[in-house]
Amino acid sequence: MHEFSLVQGLMGQLETLAAENGAERILLVTMEIGPFSGVVVDSFRFGFEALAPLTPLTRNARLIVLQLPQRYGCRDCDNEQDMDGDARPEDCPCCGSREIFPLGADDVVLRQVEME
Ligand SMILES: [Zn+2]
Repeated sequence: MHEFSLVQGLMGQLETLAAENGAERILLVTMEIGPFSGVVVDSFRFGFEALAPLTPLTRNARLIVLQLPQRYGCRDCDNEQDMDGDARPEDCPCCGSREIFPLGADDVVLRQVEME
């Protein structure tokens, strides 16, 4: 599962961060998931909940997932539009052009970590 290996990577990152900062416990992890990453947030969360309790470092860690909105831009009028859900717009709501393209990240970023 794609999400599971992402979580495994995250755990490695957290261990490194904790070691660098002399921290013993991770309290809160904030992830930012790009709209075009293809990551299923529920699966990511599930992976985190499965792996976090396995090590003392992350046993009590809470996970916050920020899901960035999908944005589309228009080549003709420079309109930018946030989209809800998975639907890709057919045309630009501003000028009706079909020259629209996805904006925004396809990556998964560790945004913030609270540790002690
Ligand atoms: Zn337009």
